[in-house]
Amino acid sequence: MSRLRTLGARLQPQANRLATAVPGSWRTGKTTSSQRGYNYEWQKARLSHLNDNPLCVYCQREGRVTAANTVDHVVAHRGDMTIFWDRDNWMSLCAPCHSSKKQREEAQAH
Ligand SMILES: [Zn+2]
Repeated sequence: MSRLRTLGARLQPQANRLATAVPGSWRTGKTTSSQRGYNYEWQKARLSHLNDNPLCVYCQREGRVTAANTVDHVVAHRGDMTIFWDRDNWMSLCAPCHSSKKQREEAQAH
């Protein structure tokens, strides 16, 4: 029994070392949770943008009144968070306009 207790006492510093190793992996985990938060933030932000700008910008240009359901970036953000979160760079689009814009962008890229 006393041997076990000694072993337990010897194991404890190791357990502490493990515990201090956790914050490192916890920080890695935090990236995921902040990504999750960013998605949540985006969901909230796009809903409020659609609330403020309920009509498709492209359809409006052509004199059509279409309810938008997508918030698109005027300038493709390509992962740049400054461009991503620049509200002046957001526009409301309906699904057909959004997919045709994406197709045009992909056609330009090729
Ligand atoms: Zn449209």
